[in-house]
Amino acid sequence: MNPHHPAIDAARIELLLSELRLPGIKGLWPKLAEQSDKDGWPAARFLAALAEHEMADRVRRRIERHLAEARLPAGKTMATFDFEAVPMVSKAQVMALAAGDAWLDKGANILLFGPPGGGKSHLAAALGLALVEGGWRVLYTRTTDLVQRLQVARQELALESAIAKLDRYHLLILDDLAYVTKDQAETSVLFELIAARYERRSLMITANQPFGEWGRIFQDPAMTLAAVDRLVHHATILEMNVESYRRRSALIRKRSAGRPAASATIRNTQSPEAE
Ligand code: ADP
Ligand code: MG
Repeated sequence: MNPHHPAIDAARIELLLSELRLPGIKGLWPKLAEQSDKDGWPAARFLAALAEHEMADRVRRRIERHLAEARLPAGKTMATFDFEAVPMVSKAQVMALAAGDAWLDKGANILLFGPPGGGKSHLAAALGLALVEGGWRVLYTRTTDLVQRLQVARQELALESAIAKLDRYHLLILDDLAYVTKDQAETSVLFELIAARYERRSLMITANQPFGEWGRIFQDPAMTLAAVDRLVHHATILEMNVESYRRRSALIRKRSAGRPAASATIRNTQSPEAE
């Protein structure tokens, strides 16, 4: 307790701050009060410092929560993404998308197409991370996992509320649309989701095949057309037609390994993915 103000009950302050849900101030005030007393701060300065701290703390904790709920794959960031490997993708455009705002506000979509290993999931996750850090709420999920969840909800006659709950995410990242099975029941929950979010909440979808092949995802051609129509109406399409990044970097490693047969042999046994 502060010796200069014996009438102030520090324990009571702590209690009040807990009750008021001000954990940032609760953690900081004893130290700051001491400094304030020592340096003779005006009361307003002390209060302002506490309020600023609480605000910054709140923003930080909110983003931490959003990061945990987003289920982003670890380590897939903008910083670790090599844009030179996908020359057809504009880094400036991706950075603008990473800032969110305009496209998320109107519920526009991003579609990433390209063969396996081209970096679709990495780029989608990196965009998701940047958006979470910018204050948006994101959920990253394999398309099959989400479809399964929605299918269960439908069996329990709760599909509508399950889809409505996903509204809290400004962006849903559906990874690998191509792997959704052809089962009619599954495809229609996906359609319901696309229709429900149309022009309200954004989707980011990665897929190996562009629309030509989607007839195999949505069994009914009319449904395929309706789904594609809604998805592309307000969409940015990123085509990533590059060779598998893993394969390429394995080849580069192999080439730079040089002539000596011994070294190449060791390399091959150490990294089975090199072929
Ligand atoms: P896709 O989803 O298109 O199949 P991934 O994003 O899973 O491809 O990429 C395969 C692997 O290669 C991942 O480990 C990913 O981090 C890495 N990778 C792909 N493209 C790049 C890139 N341009 N820069 C850095 N790493 C990349
Ligand atoms: Mg992928």
